[in-house]
Amino acid sequence: MGKIQILPKQLVSRIAAGEVVERPASVLKELIENALDAEASQIDIAIEQAGRKKIVVRDNGIGMDKDDVVLAAHVHATSKIQHEKDLESIGTLGFRGEALASIAAVSRLTILSKPEDQTLGTKVVVEEGLVGEPENAGAPTGTTVMVETLFAKTPARQKFLKTPGTEFRHIMKVVTNAALARPDVGFTLTHNDKTILELPKGSSMQERVQDLLGERLLSHFIPLSRSSPHIAIDGFIGTPQIAGHEKDKQYLFINGRPVASQLVSRVVKDAFGGLLEPRVQPVFIFFLTLPTHSVDVNIHPRKETVRFVNDRTVAVVIERSVARSLEKHDLKYVIKSEEEQSLVLNDSTVDRGMDTYTAHMLKDMMPAWHASLGAQKSDGDILQIHNLYLLTQTPNGLLLIDQHAAHERILYEEFKEAFKLTRDKQETIELDEPIVFDLPQPEAIALDEHNETFAKLGFDIDHFGDTTFKVRQVPLIFKDRNIPALLSEILDGLINENGSTKIDSATERTLSFLACRSAIKAGDYLTPLERSTLLEKLSQCPTTGYTCPHGRPTQIEITLKELERMFKRR
Ligand code: ADP
Ligand code: MG
Repeated sequence: MGKIQILPKQLVSRIAAGEVVERPASVLKELIENALDAEASQIDIAIEQAGRKKIVVRDNGIGMDKDDVVLAAHVHATSKIQHEKDLESIGTLGFRGEALASIAAVSRLTILSKPEDQTLGTKVVVEEGLVGEPENAGAPTGTTVMVETLFAKTPARQKFLKTPGTEFRHIMKVVTNAALARPDVGFTLTHNDKTILELPKGSSMQERVQDLLGERLLSHFIPLSRSSPHIAIDGFIGTPQIAGHEKDKQYLFINGRPVASQLVSRVVKDAFGGLLEPRVQPVFIFFLTLPTHSVDVNIHPRKETVRFVNDRTVAVVIERSVARSLEKHDLKYVIKSEEEQSLVLNDSTVDRGMDTYTAHMLKDMMPAWHASLGAQKSDGDILQIHNLYLLTQTPNGLLLIDQHAAHERILYEEFKEAFKLTRDKQETIELDEPIVFDLPQPEAIALDEHNETFAKLGFDIDHFGDTTFKVRQVPLIFKDRNIPALLSEILDGLINENGSTKIDSATERTLSFLACRSAIKAGDYLTPLERSTLLEKLSQCPTTGYTCPHGRPTQIEITLKELERMFKRR
């Protein structure tokens, strides 16, 4: 007898489901897409235990009648395409007709739906891939899909799931993507009955970005918009100040579909040129619109990536528009948030109590004032070029300093010193007035997880309620910083460090991280006093001062001999 046999249908669909349903977030992605395809204007999502216990998506879309509810969960049942040629011009998010069937193969699925023109709705339960008898049920117009006991029957898949924290972060990413793509649609999200997001329908793009990503990020976004006959691009590009080591803040939508594209990531990074260090990734939100025939969306079971028919055109258009936006916003000059402006002032020993107007006025006066001071010194002024490098004379020739790398090294040494001190005696400062601040949900979770580490560094942070925290005490070295902004940046970094949040084992890494996050960035203007302070502090660093904590050089000296050779004087 031969060895080959045809597998039972149930097993086939469970195998196929593996491709579509990787984790709870992939279920949610399909359900949200279905709701959007059904023209919903409001989508309410309830999650329990990071999706392993329950995922409920309720929409107010067109709904389904009894026949359709029953058909919906069958394999290759779709209302969205009919002919092969339809595959070339897909205008909906779904089209494969396999999402509900795949989800049903690995969970208990309940669909409750009612179209507008009917008074009674239909309810169907699908268990182990078997579609149950439809029942009449009262329901509002629209569809509610409930997925329970996901992967209960597929222990192998269950084993691959990460911690609830990680799975929930994937869920947040899915909701964020959908909500960014559709600011016109209202979204709510609850997790274990706690409200996480409440996004009103009819929002503007700016409002949606602010609600989802926070004011700090929004304040660092440069809008971008450009269209050519083959491709239109719209969205935002983040200034170097908010770039990070992960690509997690790269939001790309192609014809409204959230996707990842290595090509786009690389091209944007290239457009930044020297403004970003080699491994630092830019932040962006891009909406690309292309004719449907010039992009293939049917190359991935979860529709997570696409193929462009003409890579080069896409690359050229994106690179040019990014480069032009950066130029137009003249990153060579000062683009600074309030926080960084106050930083400049603080470091220049100006009193913190003054009002913003005086502060700005003083800041404007400062360069001239310091230039006059500098003129009295014999070693000359320090020049800042392209808001990237400092240039100064040395006895042997000239010295070029990378301002970010140098500041990183200085802060790292300071933090290390402070960390040692905090272990012996608390080098901290109690704030005159405790600062109460709110964090986005994922950051709030991370702060809870890491509060002990922060305590070790000298922070005293209380969880005040929900996502609200209160800081009473900070390490002395942070006394003049905008604490909520600093914490938010650090937490954001911790969350996204390779998706892991384990840092206790690596105090060193935390410190270098802190240093990197708080350091002056490429593109920051420095006052003459800041320049000389930076150089002075750098010269006080141990010999390791020649590299940043990541191993890049902080300074390069070009000797007179080398210059003479270059100019062929000898
Ligand atoms: P696809 O979205 O690829 O067509 P699905 O398995 O996700 O396949 O859904 C099958 C069909 O069920 C859809 O084509 C649509 O007709 C119907 N459907 C699914 N979810 C909804 C919903 N929330 N509202 C209305 N119809 C839905
Ligand atoms: Mg679908």
